[in-house]
Amino acid sequence: MNRRVFLASLFLLHTTSYCMEGKSDLTLADFTPLISKEEIQSAIIRTADDISQDYKGKSLTLVMIMKGAIHVTSDLMRHLKVPSTLEYVQTSSYGQNGTEPGKLTLFGLERLDIKGKDVLLIDDILDTGETLSQVTHELFKQNPASLKTLVLLKKSKGDPLNLKRYADYPIFTIGNAFVIGYGLDYKEQFRELPDIWVKKLNN
Ligand code: 5GP
Ligand code: MG
Repeated sequence: MNRRVFLASLFLLHTTSYCMEGKSDLTLADFTPLISKEEIQSAIIRTADDISQDYKGKSLTLVMIMKGAIHVTSDLMRHLKVPSTLEYVQTSSYGQNGTEPGKLTLFGLERLDIKGKDVLLIDDILDTGETLSQVTHELFKQNPASLKTLVLLKKSKGDPLNLKRYADYPIFTIGNAFVIGYGLDYKEQFRELPDIWVKKLNN
């Protein structure tokens, strides 16, 4: 290889990897607002009222699925009119590219205290139902008195009969695009946004 060809291929290599990086790393400019913080807050207050009615005279054990459910759990807990305690498990399912599901891993089951308790499992978003199905399966093994599920968002994909697990309290139903904000991440970023944003088409 002569020097000019060598330099040209170095340049090509550099620009190719730069372009690939640019394409795979999304920024907030690749998203558009979907649900405002005001809409989120009033829907959570309505749901907290419904749950408080359903559990009148009881107390609740909230099991939050970390990390995406952090804000919905915290806001819901503050609006419940029944006493509650807080437990958590952690799942991670999104693969390296940040927007496509990978293999589900589940941590923290061994230190839960839910035996004989009325449990509300809380996740950020329900897509196929795989996460809720696997986590509820594990929680039932610990003999809670009852177990219901809440999700902030439910994707409207496909036949509901094919869902692995439904949610007892779905707060919003959305389309099938990738969303971030209010706890939901893209490669661990954007969880801090107070509202929910959806990935623009063709990005
Ligand atoms: P499922 O197991 O129901 O197919 O997917 C639920 C899990 O996938 C959620 O707990 C969440 O971590 C992740 N997920 C699904 N859709 C989205 C999305 O649009 N954005 C983000 N950030 N995570 C998602
Ligand atoms: Mg999750």
